Amino acid sequence: MRLPHTRDPAGLDVALLGIPFDGGVVYRPGPRFAPRDIRQHSSLIRPYHPVLKVSPFDVLRVADVGDVDVNPLNIEDTHARVEQAITAILNAGAIPVCVGGDHSLSLAILRAVARRHGPVGMVHVDSHQDMWDAYFGNRYFHGAPFRRAVEEGLLDTHRIVQVGIRGPVYSEADFDFGRQHGVTVIRAENVAREGIGWVQEQLRAVSGGPVYLSFDIDGVDPAFAPGTGTPEVGGLTSREALEIVRALVGLPLVGADVVEVSPPYDHGNITALLAANLLFEIVSVLAVTRRNRQD
Ligand code: MN
Ligand code: MN
Repeated sequence: MRLPHTRDPAGLDVALLGIPFDGGVVYRPGPRFAPRDIRQHSSLIRPYHPVLKVSPFDVLRVADVGDVDVNPLNIEDTHARVEQAITAILNAGAIPVCVGGDHSLSLAILRAVARRHGPVGMVHVDSHQDMWDAYFGNRYFHGAPFRRAVEEGLLDTHRIVQVGIRGPVYSEADFDFGRQHGVTVIRAENVAREGIGWVQEQLRAVSGGPVYLSFDIDGVDPAFAPGTGTPEVGGLTSREALEIVRALVGLPLVGADVVEVSPPYDHGNITALLAANLLFEIVSVLAVTRRNRQD
């Protein structure tokens, strides 16, 4: 977005942070290359949002704070480094807007966010609930971040809404964990059937406290977002994806991520371009929310 680059979050309202790590992926890798690709394809984004009627960079001080110095061979060490980077951003009074990387990273981000804000509500766009337990005996990978986050008390589970869930699972029991914790699930089929206005109403279930947004690009249909590791057909359109983010205007958003973009599987850079626009949408939502609070 042609924003200034700084390593120091002091004085910022929003810090855009890259996390080039995909050691939590179980199938097609590649999200480690996403931050640089999304940066590149964000350069065309113009600074005024005509629907929200805001120039976000006039309202908020936003900068690219670079990438976390990850450890490509160690997921737990990487999570510790991410938690440290997010803590520094939060301590500076800025909101972290993160670009993965794989979805395992959201756990590390949430550890830092919850330490500051307490358990948070969450809008989670994804084709998967990411509440599986362990794969191959490993508890930390991109299919489990939100089970770990619930176990660690980082989320206010009755204020979680998952949107875009679809695709085959192992059995009906896969949905038990979310159900037992009062998580709201909006399946992709129902987004199409009920319409985006209905979805936007359902999203108000996250209100009542601080909210985190976690956006797995595979929530969007592979026709619009082919560059990802575990694609599922029958997903959201790119237009619906933008409208879901836009619905968060007015909510106390304390952090966000866009994850699972895998440039090696992208076609014509359309997935990176969508991710860049989702980031612009998130920053615009933060700007409108700030402006409305000041009015
Ligand atoms: Mn997913
Ligand atoms: Mn995911």
